[in-house]
Amino acid sequence: MNLPLIVIGAGLAGWTTIREFRKLDPDTPVTLITADSGDFYAKPTLSNAFAQQRGPTQLVTTPAARMAETLKVTLLAHSEVLAIDPAQRRVRTGQGEIDYRDLVLATGAHAIRLPLAGDAAEQVLSVNSLDDFAAFHARLLAERAPEAAKARVLIMGAGLIGCEFANDLAGTGHPVELVDPASAPIAALLPAQASAELQAALTGLGVQWHFGTTVAAVNQAAAGAMLVTLANGQSLEADLVLSAIGLRANTTLAQAAGLQCERGVVVDASLRTSQPHIYALGDNAQYAGQDWNLATSAPVSGGRTLPYVMPIMNAAKALVATLTGNRTELVFPLMPVGIKTPALPIVVAPPAPGTAGEWQSTSPGIWQFRDPDHQVRGFVLTGAQTNQRMAQSKLVVL
Ligand SMILES: Cc1cc2nc3c(=O)[nH]c(=O)nc-3n(C[C@H](O)[C@H](O)[C@H](O)COP(=O)(O)OP(=O)(O)OC[C@H]3O[C@@H](n4cnc5c(N)ncnc54)[C@H](O)[C@@H]3O)c2cc1C
Repeated sequence: MNLPLIVIGAGLAGWTTIREFRKLDPDTPVTLITADSGDFYAKPTLSNAFAQQRGPTQLVTTPAARMAETLKVTLLAHSEVLAIDPAQRRVRTGQGEIDYRDLVLATGAHAIRLPLAGDAAEQVLSVNSLDDFAAFHARLLAERAPEAAKARVLIMGAGLIGCEFANDLAGTGHPVELVDPASAPIAALLPAQASAELQAALTGLGVQWHFGTTVAAVNQAAAGAMLVTLANGQSLEADLVLSAIGLRANTTLAQAAGLQCERGVVVDASLRTSQPHIYALGDNAQYAGQDWNLATSAPVSGGRTLPYVMPIMNAAKALVATLTGNRTELVFPLMPVGIKTPALPIVVAPPAPGTAGEWQSTSPGIWQFRDPDHQVRGFVLTGAQTNQRMAQSKLVVL
């Protein structure tokens, strides 16, 4: 019998893998099992949708049924995989069991939730899927009578996603407060001066900042509002609280099936997990370290998660080569990330984790991360300098 390639998850990782696979193999049956609708959308558009006046429906670029037809996929939408049996090469869903030839885990990540006190803690939202965005969008509009002031949004987390939402919401007239234990926005990725530029640009849109503290409690207040108590004792009123404090790889299925997992599902240089015929990519994967290669025959501890689009595009290409019989080593190129804060556009190519060195400003809007040998290992560009992306990329030693 011609067993299918089964892909679990219809995010960018799942659909991109299938699209790339079909370019090389038009015939092998492919089954996509996904807990959501399977509609294709670009997740990065979730954090700049308001400026473009796009709701959840407009963000779908191709409906699931069309994707399935074009790519010759058996689509099991709204269907959760409950368990994997690596020995039998079988997955179990609510509708029954299916055997696979190869299995791709593309189950993404979960939004991290802080345990919060208060009777409205459950109303705190996160946006990491189209369904989350639909709920957020509906609440934001519902909080606002047509003639009333726009809903006040308190965002937990001034990282990349929190700042993108802050720009999108403040830029469309919503009062926005940002709360973060760090002392500056996107502090983990940016040199201090670039953070300060971003802070000034978002302040210009009316964003208010609360650094060095966290949200402790969220309680119901009068007229449907929420009273947010910070760890520093300050109280703020908001109509909506959005949590953007980070993601954790979704390893539930993999762990239950006995696959090696750390911060993500551990894969080797060919994206294979600790079990034969099971692969992983996307936000759920912990990719091999730079110094591993195909001779490293099993997954090894200590790789990194890369929850961005470009790693998925690169990983999908390497993976389908392996799945079509040409075992291929994934080597990531430099992958700069564009931060969607139009008040101050930013491009960041962070140095690999653990790289020794420091940020140096070379001219206004350009910072290079130089190691002790003065090699450029990463860069940050702001404002008009973001058009230097190609030129700066050429200088980086990976
Ligand atoms: C607001 C926002 C903005 C972003 N902006 C950028 C950006 O500008 N640039 C950039 O590079 N990156 C950006 N990212 C990150 C990027 O979007 C993600 O890295 C990428 O979309 C992850 O895709 P994925 O397929 O791995 O995961 P997901 O999109 O999370 O897909 C996971 C899929 O798995 C399914 N699933 C999970 N468990 C099961 C199960 N047991 N059974 C069946 N199905 C299951 C889910 O239903 C879903 O379909 C952004 C992320 C967010 C949240």
